[in-house]
Amino acid sequence: MRSPSYSGRHRAPGRHRAPRRALRVPTGLRAGFVLPGAAAAALVVTATGATVADSAPVSAAVSGARGANATGKPTTQETGPGELDRLEQEHDRLQHEQQREMQSAAAQSRVQTAHRIARTAERQAVAKKRAAEAVKKAEATRKARERWVMPIKGATFTSGYGWRWGRLHQGDDFGTPVGTPLASMSTGTVRFAGWEGGYGNKIEIQYWDGTVSVFGHLSRVDVKVGDKVAPGEVVGHSGNTGHSTGPHLHLEIHPDGGAAIDPAPWLHAHHLQ
Ligand SMILES: [Zn+2]
Repeated sequence: MRSPSYSGRHRAPGRHRAPRRALRVPTGLRAGFVLPGAAAAALVVTATGATVADSAPVSAAVSGARGANATGKPTTQETGPGELDRLEQEHDRLQHEQQREMQSAAAQSRVQTAHRIARTAERQAVAKKRAAEAVKKAEATRKARERWVMPIKGATFTSGYGWRWGRLHQGDDFGTPVGTPLASMSTGTVRFAGWEGGYGNKIEIQYWDGTVSVFGHLSRVDVKVGDKVAPGEVVGHSGNTGHSTGPHLHLEIHPDGGAAIDPAPWLHAHHLQ
């Protein structure tokens, strides 16, 4: 009752069991254990201590079995069917274990790299933000320091720069009640504070850009030479002292501390009029 198909390896239970098993097993083992060199070394290096101890004799035993097969004289003396099954399973188990370890290590490395990149990006973003804030703050500080303001607010312009009665009127006059607070026009240093002839009580301030302002006919001086003043800071009060025909502020502008100029264009250029 034998059909040709029964001569196949899987249809002949029992009859050629030992030789068939001996021939079949090395096919699976060749992939890993039989290969010497890098593959075996990698397995030994990455496996646990116990596995390393097991793997050495396995390689030796399988190599022996393969050698016997190559001669055409199959033998199961060194590796019986049960032993080969066990070795094959052990090989698969070790291979899977190695793959899991490598995959786990690679995944861990990727996560660490991602975290490192994220941390670096975060630090750079924070540094960039702080630098931008510092620049913004410095710019705001500079703008505040270099701000220009009028010495008095709401005063009436009464007389301008120019020749009057044979002499040069070197500034602008602003009519204002005696005792009106007078402000420093920007950040600067007091160069003169006191009485001077026709000016009466007078204050000279040199500002951050070199410009000097002169306030005349004051009723009161609230600063002294060398004082540092800020934009809008009160330095004295208006009055009617010196050669004055009525309560007003006499204002002169001296670019770079030089000769007085017509204040009107300068005030306009500084957005004060
Ligand atoms: Zn005047």
